[in-house]
Amino acid sequence: MSQGDDKQAASPSLVPGLYIVATPIGNLEDITLRALRVLRAADLIACEDTRHTQKLLSHFEIKKPTVSYHEHNEAARSRELLARIAAGERVALVSDAGTPGISDPGERIIRAAIESGVPVISVPGPSAFISALVASGLRTDSFRFLGFLPSRAGERRSALERLRETIETLVFYEAPHRILETLSDLELVFGPERRVVIARELTKVHEELLRGTASDMRSVLTQREAIKGEMTIIVEGRMQSEAVKPPQGLGQRMHELMEQEQLEEKAALKQAAKEFGISKSEAYREWQRRK
Ligand code: SAM
Repeated sequence: MSQGDDKQAASPSLVPGLYIVATPIGNLEDITLRALRVLRAADLIACEDTRHTQKLLSHFEIKKPTVSYHEHNEAARSRELLARIAAGERVALVSDAGTPGISDPGERIIRAAIESGVPVISVPGPSAFISALVASGLRTDSFRFLGFLPSRAGERRSALERLRETIETLVFYEAPHRILETLSDLELVFGPERRVVIARELTKVHEELLRGTASDMRSVLTQREAIKGEMTIIVEGRMQSEAVKPPQGLGQRMHELMEQEQLEEKAALKQAAKEFGISKSEAYREWQRRK
């Protein structure tokens, strides 16, 4: 037994179960004392990427067996891990960064654990969206976390259109190579006035909070040689005073549905109304106005 194992054996014991352990989103100091204790005492650590998590474990001198648990092996791995827990083991679940299950693998095994009566224990810690939201300066009393927007332009715009009237602050994750397109869509759908905050590289050396409108963000980012880093976008909710505007992407979506998806006008109107969350007659009026 190595020195590291000695230290781990001395940790207070844990009851058998599935431990959902949040890990840092950049700065390793953000791991909690309890997360460290659980990782040290667990029998097995299920990781989104074992090599990635190994760096974290090595940093804290934690020597424990790891196993992969990711979107491609979730079903089979869940059964295997739950069988081990049922036999008395303690399994810690981690993702590459932040809280497992939040735009990361985890949901499936957590649900399966609950269904099979296996204890699920949350070990809270960092999550990028909470850190970004609180630093944004936008309203935090009521917000909607939406994870990643669809990558296809039409679907992304439709998703945003459905949120146009939402008064809660909106929180999205976004990849750097899509940020400019998303900012254009935000401006198109929500109008030029809404306040937008980009939280980039939170907790890391190059942490940055960009505040302004979507167009301000675009100007700042396009002037850069490269747009890099992890980004969370926060968008102000609709102000009560803001006039309810007709859906701006409806005309475009109608063309897409009729030209690309070969729908008849009536079927396209029905589909567009559904996607934009408006009635068929509203969609019809709007479509006539734009024709
Ligand atoms: N489970 C993680 C959590 O709890 O935050 C999120 C995982 S998701 C796959 C990764 C996305 O989270 C990134 O693409 C980015 O949008 C956001 N993110 C992660 N780390 C971040 C950071 N340090 N600063 C800003 N956003 C971050």
